[in-house]
Amino acid sequence: MQAVLFDLDDTLLDKSSSLMDCAWGFQCKYNACAEPEKFIKAFVRENEVIQPKWAAFRKIAKECALSDSLAEIMHVDFDQNFAQYCKAFPRALDTVRRLSNTGIKLAIVTNGRDFFQRNKIEALGLYGYLDAIVTSGELGVKKPTPEIFLHALDMMGAQAKYSVFCGDSIVADMQPANLLGMTTIWKTQRQSVQPAAVNYRFTHYSEFGSILGQIKFDRA
Ligand SMILES: [Mg+2]
Repeated sequence: MQAVLFDLDDTLLDKSSSLMDCAWGFQCKYNACAEPEKFIKAFVRENEVIQPKWAAFRKIAKECALSDSLAEIMHVDFDQNFAQYCKAFPRALDTVRRLSNTGIKLAIVTNGRDFFQRNKIEALGLYGYLDAIVTSGELGVKKPTPEIFLHALDMMGAQAKYSVFCGDSIVADMQPANLLGMTTIWKTQRQSVQPAAVNYRFTHYSEFGSILGQIKFDRA
């Protein structure tokens, strides 16, 4: 095995839980809404949707009857400080740290604005363990486009057929990685049928080591 590439949001980073903490933080800090539960729900929902952040905060403001100026202040605060609320899934950081000691190259390949994704990676304490970080914001190309995966492999001098991709999205992570010939590991909560592009799947990082142990690569 030459390399393991990870997605960030909802794969290493527990985004929903991090958004929930941030929402409560903002509710307390700004005394944002007379109905806190409503604010929290709107905040988490709109920030989970892929859309420009100004649009997310405009919708939150409308739903919770916040002023435009408060919405803009929260938007700026969120961009600058969301990383402080970020937390990883249990054992995820351990898994990355342990892998980095084995000589296997490690990368994060993530869609999003470059500064925003890098702030989150840094806040999780992952910077020193990674051989490559590729963001769509920096590269100008988003997953599932093959170029972003190939760019990360290239940065590590790794070949797709000896590399593994771990992510939560079938369309953005599993299918393109599978088409490139990588082994795919799906982070999922669902107990549904295993999609064709998925080679292995797990719900908790305690399973990750044994999955890697099962992967056998054909010799070139
Ligand atoms: Mg993801």
